[in-house]
Amino acid sequence: MGGEGMETGEGARTAQGGVGTAGPGPASLALMERAQRRIPGGVNSPVRAARAVGGRPRFLRSGRGAYAVDADGREYVDWAMSYGPLILGHAHPAVVAAVTEAARHGTTFGAPTEAEVRLAETICERVPSVERVRLTSSGTEATMSALRLARAFTGRDDVIKFAGGYHGHADAFLVEAGSGVLSTGIPGSAGVPEDTVRHTVVVPYNDLAAVEEALRQRPAAAVFVEPVAGNMGVVAPLPGFLPGLRALCDRYGALLVFDEVITGFRVARGGAQERYGVRPDLTTMGKIVGGGMPVGAFGGRADILSLLAPEGTVFQAGTLSGNPLAMAAGLATLGELDRPGTYEGLERTAAALAQGLEEAAREAGVALYVARVGSMLTPFFRAGSVTNLDDVRASDTAAYARFYHAMADRGVLLPPSPFECLFVSTAHGDEEVERTLEAARPAMRAAAGGA
Ligand SMILES: *Cc1c(COP(=O)(O)O)cnc(C)c1O
Repeated sequence: MGGEGMETGEGARTAQGGVGTAGPGPASLALMERAQRRIPGGVNSPVRAARAVGGRPRFLRSGRGAYAVDADGREYVDWAMSYGPLILGHAHPAVVAAVTEAARHGTTFGAPTEAEVRLAETICERVPSVERVRLTSSGTEATMSALRLARAFTGRDDVIKFAGGYHGHADAFLVEAGSGVLSTGIPGSAGVPEDTVRHTVVVPYNDLAAVEEALRQRPAAAVFVEPVAGNMGVVAPLPGFLPGLRALCDRYGALLVFDEVITGFRVARGGAQERYGVRPDLTTMGKIVGGGMPVGAFGGRADILSLLAPEGTVFQAGTLSGNPLAMAAGLATLGELDRPGTYEGLERTAAALAQGLEEAAREAGVALYVARVGSMLTPFFRAGSVTNLDDVRASDTAAYARFYHAMADRGVLLPPSPFECLFVSTAHGDEEVERTLEAARPAMRAAAGGA
């Protein structure tokens, strides 16, 4: 299969109803040429390059609601949604107005501002386990700072994470999952010293026995978990997994850290901890909390957060942390999410999409399992459900790549990797689901290899 230029059958229609050309258009291709000269891989974050689906990226130039327009002027129903922040869709009027108004009063001060206090209060009100919180400019900063804090609080160095779990690109988290249950110390990136990941223990997701074994062998500062995994595609926690982690952390004196950078304010108003009724010690956030601007946050128990400088001895800082434009976007987004029926609506749209995709697959004779929790979902080309990274890896990634290209050529943008989520926003509704399923029927036949 040759990447872009996928065979999509005759008469591939764009979202505008015209006849589409296979692959990215000339403007995107020309931009990629230029980009690759000056930016490694042509992108500022690797997945965007679309190599995981054997293609080249469409450059996007604008977005509105559930739709994005590429550099060639083609319109798409966008389900990638910037990997999660855009729960209100692109350029939501309330967010645009808030950011515009904030910009008029100054873009950064390096002094405390009221908007930071308001966002902190808003987060703590929605997520009761977060008694105090500090704001950062990315999820990566939030998770690496939470790890530093957990190590300082417990006086322990080890950290347990799950295979397929992503917690940003700080060195300590960039550990590949080995095949052994307790594989440690294998950096998943060049440039990460083995010494740095010596303290990182990787265990399979949804495997409480492995967690207990790890905790018994080595006292850990913390267990970091995505309460719904979203970075190997959606993998839901099995019943009992999250409460089990809580109990194990209590028994062995480790902190339980929920990485809710994706799930926060998405799978419920108060995040996954509300949806599953489990109270972590620390929580990391990002994506939605910034409403499309660069924001992260970490917070939790007051006694732990008080260790942060200048109250305590754990250093953590950021020139643009609490940036006024970002605070405005976050506050506007969280405010909009409080409209009655928001989460029910997201759930309904996502369920219709998931069901429709499974039907389209069945009609095409393709094995498909759509993993879904609330408004995050991943179509895995395999029969049967997924509970960990091994299951995920056993899906047919080539089929996903064919599906991705066939959908893009028909005006529907999916994440350019089989291991990411589709994100439903409040701007997606019946019409977008219908357009998507109309494209999915022939695209499933392409996925089957019969294009
Ligand atoms: C996206 C993500 C991060 C990293 O956030 P950035 O803002 O990209 O640095 C951390 N954890 C999870 C679960 C994420 O999905």
